[in-house]
Amino acid sequence: MRHFDAIVIGAGQAGTPLAKKLAEGGKKTLIIEKRIVGGTCINDGCTPTKAMIASARAAHQARSAAALGVEVSDVKVNLPKIKQRKDKIVKSFRGSSEKGIEETKGLELIYGEAVFTEEKTLTIQLNKGGEETVSADWIFINTGAKTVIPEIDGLDGIDYLSSTSIMELEEVPEHLVILGGNYIGLEFGQMFSRFGSKVTILEKSSRLLSKEDEDIAEEVTKFLQDEKIDILNDVTTDQFELDDKGNIITSISIKGKKLQISSSHLLVAVGRSPQTDQLGLQKAGIKTDDKGHILVDDKLETNISGVYALGDVKGGPAFTHVSYNDYTIVYRNLLEGANYTTADRPIPYCMFTDPQLGRIGLSEREAKEKGLNFKVATLPMANVARGIETGETKGLMKAIVDADSKKILGAAILGTEGGEVMSVLQMAMIGGITYDRIRYCIFAHPTFSESLNNLFMTIEE
Ligand SMILES: Cc1cc2nc3c(=O)[nH]c(=O)nc-3n(C[C@H](O)[C@H](O)[C@H](O)COP(=O)(O)OP(=O)(O)OC[C@H]3O[C@@H](n4cnc5c(N)ncnc54)[C@H](O)[C@@H]3O)c2cc1C
Repeated sequence: MRHFDAIVIGAGQAGTPLAKKLAEGGKKTLIIEKRIVGGTCINDGCTPTKAMIASARAAHQARSAAALGVEVSDVKVNLPKIKQRKDKIVKSFRGSSEKGIEETKGLELIYGEAVFTEEKTLTIQLNKGGEETVSADWIFINTGAKTVIPEIDGLDGIDYLSSTSIMELEEVPEHLVILGGNYIGLEFGQMFSRFGSKVTILEKSSRLLSKEDEDIAEEVTKFLQDEKIDILNDVTTDQFELDDKGNIITSISIKGKKLQISSSHLLVAVGRSPQTDQLGLQKAGIKTDDKGHILVDDKLETNISGVYALGDVKGGPAFTHVSYNDYTIVYRNLLEGANYTTADRPIPYCMFTDPQLGRIGLSEREAKEKGLNFKVATLPMANVARGIETGETKGLMKAIVDADSKKILGAAILGTEGGEVMSVLQMAMIGGITYDRIRYCIFAHPTFSESLNNLFMTIEE
């Protein structure tokens, strides 16, 4: 059995940079990957979706250009070409990740599936055949998450799509039904509607984006409906079956009323669950919550000393930047003797619909639930000079501020480049810059961020 100073399981957004840093720091390091280097973000998540969303936006802008006095006739969507472009970007990102691993001295990569057999011992089912047993002083689990497939009658008899397989389609679906009205479902819904599919979104809650404030969810619903996307709420999905022409028949109930929807394709986007079920965690005595997420302390160490979990597998907000930040905490603590924790780190995120929803900190509902003394600033994008000039007036800017300290507690920027404008407010939150200073701060005119002046003008003293 070979022994290492450190073993990283999963070459995802935390695993790869961490393994490189450990090896560069003189630790004999092994990284184990069961599929391909780069994990979800590069291969199945952020990179390919955002590349394809750019194509969908181009199609939409071409169709809407007449409003700006530019007439474009006959907009054609070439899905094979869109896929080719996406594949090229993914390949190049993955290639540089692979190269980074190969070129790091003291770092070995093994392709295979790792399973714990003891506390600090793993057996790897090698992809090339056979198995190897390895052990280490430190083990880092970065095995990510996978698509949840709900138990619904008839679903296993349907050739449904996941967020990964939908990006391999070469033909635009005639009618795409999407199970799940959250971030992933909405990004794909708008993307395929812009490619030319009829899209129907089925959501079990009474509105989309149930974690966001109601005004934000309403505005998102409005702009998706403006693009002719059908959104059904309060949906219970009862059954799937195929008709004799091969159409997918989805039987649903909405508040007791039964309906059937016939579609050519079905995307399942109801959530993601941690990849821990095949990891043999019980053999190592590593504790999980009831959903299978690995339990960690605020330095990301599990209940077993020297075993850490990073990224989606540990639960909480599942984003690439969280996974990457986890890596920076762990490596700085272990290799540089620092004392960083996950406590109180702000977690920004962005939904890449068009317009985007950039979010940071507390929502209005959360501020209410906490019983805070707060004020809310809102500004419709229709009042944002930059948006009027570019013809992008959908959405709104919203910020929650502490009424006493004047500090920003949270923001939701639903608008073009909402993620970038949100980041401006994130920096203000980190730096303790109060809203009354931003109100009179000088921003370049005419940028979207400039309207933060007007956003905070709406707060009455
Ligand atoms: C469609 C989609 C769009 C997304 N868009 C965004 C976005 O725009 N922005 C954003 O921040 N996030 C986005 N995400 C989420 C983001 O991709 C994840 O949060 C991020 O990739 C998590 O990284 P990770 O390091 O936890 O794990 P991953 O990147 O998932 O890596 C885990 C790796 O571990 C490997 N592995 C698992 N088990 C084993 C084992 N037993 N042995 C060996 N290897 C194993 C897997 O094969 C995988 O390569 C999106 C996700 C999806 C699905």
